[in-house]
Amino acid sequence: MGHIKNFLSAQGTHGIEQGVIAVGSMSSGMPVGLPYLAIRGARPGKTLWLHGQVHGDEINGMIAALRFARGLDPAHMSGNVVVTPTGNPHALDARRKRNPYDELDLDQSYPGNPNGLISERLAFALMQEIEGTADVLINLHTMNALFDSRVYAVYKVHPQSPLSELELLRLISVFEPNVACRMDVGGAGELPGNIAGALDYQCLARGVAAFMLELGGGSRYEAHNVEQAERGFARLAAQLGILPKATANVLPASVRQVTKRGWMTFSHGGLFIPQATAGDTLPAKAVLGHSMDLYGNPVETIALARDGIVIGLRRDPVVHTGERAAFMAHEWKEVTL
Ligand SMILES: [Zn+2]
Repeated sequence: MGHIKNFLSAQGTHGIEQGVIAVGSMSSGMPVGLPYLAIRGARPGKTLWLHGQVHGDEINGMIAALRFARGLDPAHMSGNVVVTPTGNPHALDARRKRNPYDELDLDQSYPGNPNGLISERLAFALMQEIEGTADVLINLHTMNALFDSRVYAVYKVHPQSPLSELELLRLISVFEPNVACRMDVGGAGELPGNIAGALDYQCLARGVAAFMLELGGGSRYEAHNVEQAERGFARLAAQLGILPKATANVLPASVRQVTKRGWMTFSHGGLFIPQATAGDTLPAKAVLGHSMDLYGNPVETIALARDGIVIGLRRDPVVHTGERAAFMAHEWKEVTL
């Protein structure tokens, strides 16, 4: 049995435990492990698991989860909250998305492998702790540092999950996301990679309700996005019965579900100046921004071919051919909860 399971199931009183899930060591002898914070309520109940980051340059989720957890009083809780602030400590230390020692995308590596590369071992160690412990897990992300975005959710539907899509959308709605994107595990409209290796998808396969919450941009602290996440954690914990119901308020009546999304890219290098704002819903032909060359001549206008929601928008002006200008929703509807 794992460290966290032990603490949450042992005889004894409520309280807070901080510790490390040991995974291995570096040549220097420095230990490799996953820090955790487990808050055990005075009465039994469900376990909400907040996973702060999978990608090492995505910071807002770690801060939101830790601040929320440190504000809890276990004496007034029925159930537990667990925070694993990072699943990717090497990448966090290196201020980059992927682990520099194997270059794997950790969120394509779950459920992991105890005898594999270091990212696969980190994935395996985390999964061992989650399985049989978590009832709901939030896989926290941001876009990368080059983009701005409003808070949004991404979820997948697993054929073996006992949870319906509507139940998942109800959990997501407490965060009042700009959009809730249903992601095709086959990867249509996404970047290349093994989408089924995402932490949330592997949790769904194990009966844990799970989704991704995207909290703005990477490599920085964004107060409004962090605070929106903290409010959502409190509402979700109340919905699950972990916090007193008084903490819960009326849930949104609907959520904007996106079923098709995709990237717009630059054809030419230059300096991009945005005109729109991340989160905007815009009609066909709306202009997202213009780029110019290093002589100041106009080079390219990024305009919508059809109606869309700007999920994420480029904020770094330095752009090359093939780089991403915007992440767009192309097909959406309000789903009544
Ligand atoms: Zn990410």
